[in-house]
Amino acid sequence: MASERTGETPDLSPESWAVWAGRPDGIDEPLNTPIVPASNFTQPASYARSSGTPTWAAFETVLSGLERGRAIAFSSGMGAVSAVLDLVPVGGHVVIPTDCYQGVASAVAAGVETGRWTAEEIPVIDTGRWIGALAASDLVWLESPTNPLLDIADLATVAAAPRSALLAVDNTFATPLNQRPLLVGADISVHSVTKFLGGHSDLLMGAIAVSDDHLFDRLASRRSIGGATPGSLEAYLATRGLRTLPVRMERSQRTATLLAERLAEDGRVHGVRYPGLTTHPGHTLAAAQLDQFGAMVSFEVVGGLDAADRACRSVRLIHHTTSRGGVESTMERRAAVPGQEHLPAALIRLSVGLEDPEDLWADLSSALG
Ligand code: PLP
Repeated sequence: MASERTGETPDLSPESWAVWAGRPDGIDEPLNTPIVPASNFTQPASYARSSGTPTWAAFETVLSGLERGRAIAFSSGMGAVSAVLDLVPVGGHVVIPTDCYQGVASAVAAGVETGRWTAEEIPVIDTGRWIGALAASDLVWLESPTNPLLDIADLATVAAAPRSALLAVDNTFATPLNQRPLLVGADISVHSVTKFLGGHSDLLMGAIAVSDDHLFDRLASRRSIGGATPGSLEAYLATRGLRTLPVRMERSQRTATLLAERLAEDGRVHGVRYPGLTTHPGHTLAAAQLDQFGAMVSFEVVGGLDAADRACRSVRLIHHTTSRGGVESTMERRAAVPGQEHLPAALIRLSVGLEDPEDLWADLSSALG
């Protein structure tokens, strides 16, 4: 395997680490770890599904430094989620937030249906119940900020409580630049790399990061056995995405703040949710827990479901799509998605990209009619 800058160097800032790490480190080497389209390696490296490839390793090195743990790349966020769920013993108990990525809720419901485990949902803001759940379950799955309501869990308080359960945190919306769950005591940090880390809506990938070596081995073996391995092209693109994550997030978050502030004063919408707004019920906690407030904004359109659908159909610069976290801004009425009917009917989730903030506001404002 190509030699790589894998050393323990996180006294670099995340901005420098994102650019520096995961590159070949020898003489006459290319600057970028290449796409290595190989399943088979000469011994002792063996077989890609079990031993990985230099292209995956480059991505994992960069993410490990950002998360302050040891990262494993997966074929998708759900591949990573499934590997974590696979740690739950048969007959175990799983706890998830009432508001969380619907794919996670579906995967947990599927396990309940087949009798694999029992499950329970708790609002992320109910810290006392989460603390109780840690002592009485096998896997506690938190997500903060949540998708799509952007509620904030008190991660440090929950993670400090005694537990028998594994504590996993879906860090997709925060990104490791804003929040490092392992540092506050969570066992596992999970990502849909498809979103902000990849950042260009051109790949599907996932990742987990852990601090504990034994847990690392268990999850690495889940990837190997389960086969949810990333493609070489995807891992290469995801590493390239990580290089610009800090500048993309900085720009998107600045614009998200501006748009959230304008929406909050606009009579055509209500219930604007952005953790950076002082009116957000979790703002004080978010300010203590997150370095920045993220690039997702949710709001409800005053005219209701039809007006929200009209706004989604009317945007021209912003794309009407379900996925998010790319350089392009996207939005969607979430309750229109099967399984999300419990959400406020007119709730729109906006992912803020890199376009000019005034162009974005003009587009949004005109779509709101
Ligand atoms: N976690 C969150 C918060 C998500 O938003 C998503 C996808 O939308 C996932 C996990 C699953 O990731 P993927 O779509 O890459 O499988």
